[in-house]
Amino acid sequence: MRGGGFILLTLALLRGASSLRREVDAATGSSLEECEFAKILIIGAGPTGLGAATRAYQLLGKGKEGFLLVDMTDRPGGLSRTERTPEGFLFDMGGHVLFSHFQYFDDVIDAAFAKSGDEFYYHQRQSHVRMRQRWVPYPFQNNLAALPVDLQEKAILGLVEAAVESATNSTKPVTFDEWIMRKMGSGIADIFMRPYNYKVWAHTTKQMQCKWLGDRVSTVDVQRAISNVLHNRTEAGWGPNAMFRFPKRGGTGRIWEAVADMLPKENQRYLFRANSIDAEEKTVHFDGGKCVKYDSLISTMPLDILLKDFLGRPELTTNLSYSSSHIIGLGIRGNHSHGNKCWQYFPEDDCPFYRNTIFSNYASGNIPPANASLPTIAMAGGGRSAP
Ligand SMILES: Cc1cc2nc3c(=O)[nH]c(=O)nc-3n(C[C@H](O)[C@H](O)[C@H](O)COP(=O)(O)OP(=O)(O)OC[C@H]3O[C@@H](n4cnc5c(N)ncnc54)[C@H](O)[C@@H]3O)c2cc1C
Repeated sequence: MRGGGFILLTLALLRGASSLRREVDAATGSSLEECEFAKILIIGAGPTGLGAATRAYQLLGKGKEGFLLVDMTDRPGGLSRTERTPEGFLFDMGGHVLFSHFQYFDDVIDAAFAKSGDEFYYHQRQSHVRMRQRWVPYPFQNNLAALPVDLQEKAILGLVEAAVESATNSTKPVTFDEWIMRKMGSGIADIFMRPYNYKVWAHTTKQMQCKWLGDRVSTVDVQRAISNVLHNRTEAGWGPNAMFRFPKRGGTGRIWEAVADMLPKENQRYLFRANSIDAEEKTVHFDGGKCVKYDSLISTMPLDILLKDFLGRPELTTNLSYSSSHIIGLGIRGNHSHGNKCWQYFPEDDCPFYRNTIFSNYASGNIPPANASLPTIAMAGGGRSAP
């Protein structure tokens, strides 16, 4: 999946003013096809496209020539949608958690759920890092007391170095690695931040810049970190997602379906795949021969695909890079041993994954009822299951 990480907006805006409604054959001047027209055409009904459509609806109203939101899949949500198996297991594309610092964003989500009658559960984050066969509460840097003594020593010495470096270096960090070294030091960098982030992004922290961090990664109060170790104290309640809310039914995807339900149906098209953009003519062509003319186009498809395949500008993509994730969902009958834990980080190289999510802890609606029967698809011995 491109982008990875949290709400990462890939948004390109092509502006212009045109009121043409009809494709015309350049040679004959005859009309080839009737294009629809939208003042604002939005490609992609994931969170970004839905946000743009919500704002466009507020500004332009619903009229036929206001905004048009299109997506190639059969429903809204993009990477933030939720899949449901026939047995009734729900799977987000990786266990999403919703949090924001923007009142407008929260107001839209609240209005959508108020209208649809949906409700949230509110959870306290219970998250841990698996290290040396033990669980260290997250944020790791606030919970060094849970580490073995050799790692505590390494982490604390690094913290002291980082405090000196921060106090004496007046320049701003550029790379993610510099940011880590200045905020946390070489100990935490080597034990957790570098290996974990390499697993997540498939790029080294030196290859990444640090502007995206904001307050998404907990920084360290050195005195508190040392005092926590000496007093053998752990504290887990830091960060923007220390509390999070999750839909009682339908998984994270339900949020985006509810946002889409606030928009007029006639302004949305699904199974509507854009296959080319004529930026000169301000026209997007879709599978099946349909076309839409626009005054402004907002594309939320992956930026490299937009530049390479739609705008013929591959040279603009040479400095862009992305990584992909495999998200594996397991539906299991029985009990698990993870208590209330929500998700867990695995920085070490003894397993191929970097995180797991105990999705049934987020909402009882994420799993089938206890009495549901599940079909046996294959027998452990390799034989065929009874029909
Ligand atoms: C493993 C993982 C975990 C994550 N966890 C979280 C989390 O906990 N919290 C959080 O907030 N975010 C999380 N994210 C990030 C979140 O999924 C994305 O940031 C978000 O979905 C991006 O929204 P978007 O609308 O920009 O793009 P997308 O969700 O990618 O939506 C783009 C839409 O464009 C459509 N599209 C593309 N090309 C075309 C075309 N040619 N024609 C028509 N339609 C097209 C696609 O079908 C898609 O619906 C996670 C992501 C991953 C991969």
